[in-house]
Amino acid sequence: MIVMATSNGDVGICQATEALKQGKTAVDAVEIGIREVELNRKDRSVGIHGYPNILGVAELDALIMDGRTRNVGAVGAIKGYDHPISVARGVMEKLIHVFLVAEGAERFASEMGHAKSTYEDPEMRDIYEKYIREKLDIDDPNTLHDSTELWKLSHLAVDPQKAGGTTNFIARDGNGDICVGVSTSGWGWKYPGRLGDSPVISAGGYADNRYGAAACTGTGELCIRAGTARSLVTYLKTGMTLVEATTEATKDLNELTAQRIGGVNVIAMGADGSHYSGNTGEAKGRHIFMTPEMDAPETVEGVAVPYEGS
Ligand code: ASP
Repeated sequence: MIVMATSNGDVGICQATEALKQGKTAVDAVEIGIREVELNRKDRSVGIHGYPNILGVAELDALIMDGRTRNVGAVGAIKGYDHPISVARGVMEKLIHVFLVAEGAERFASEMGHAKSTYEDPEMRDIYEKYIREKLDIDDPNTLHDSTELWKLSHLAVDPQKAGGTTNFIARDGNGDICVGVSTSGWGWKYPGRLGDSPVISAGGYADNRYGAAACTGTGELCIRAGTARSLVTYLKTGMTLVEATTEATKDLNELTAQRIGGVNVIAMGADGSHYSGNTGEAKGRHIFMTPEMDAPETVEGVAVPYEGS
């Protein structure tokens, strides 16, 4: 039994590991861990308090995939709900579809009994307005709502180190079943309706008990273009080791030179619960992990595959 996560998963990894210890499934553990991150008001990259889009609205994305059945559920650009990961789980378990976005996802959340969030962020309006005023020299950010040239401003969402971030969880339970989960508010100041990799099945996350699982954080556009999580699992299928498969999937990201605006961190678990991570920057891949025998999570570094293009 083991849980691995991105470092912002530290607020939920103990609860996720405890769930496994109590005999809960990998799917339960991933949902339990991610719900804690979604409620961590200090984390501006996940949950309703995450950085909003360019119109000041938080649009959230999430995905959960059960490696036992290869069933999956995802929601994109959902607004006003505290736990996109639980809505995604509902999609996986209750619908014949696997991916809902925007109003449809919100309608489904309500039908599933999720209450609309009552949380009002005391700081975000000021953060947003200050950013828009300083970056765009626009006195009244509300005027953006009527703009017909928002697209020209989409380059604002270019700094994922400052306004990006996502949480990834992968768990393997006592039955050897693996689950991956991803949740994010996506890039801050993004174009309305923009989806990153996080809810995109095979890009932001993928799990298959037979080989392993993977998930990504960072520049979602790259992971969508490379199909990163699924590629990594397919590399495992071909017989590569976890280190080789992670390195190869990270290298694939570095083959993408056009419209390149940032890097990616990939975390991966083998079918046996081994774990590793890769990063397209100078820094090594990084993740945390915990087993029921441990009192606290440990941080582990993986491979750096620095991008060498221009
Ligand atoms: N991958 C996320 C996205 O593209 C953002 C991030 O992890 O920084 O929306």
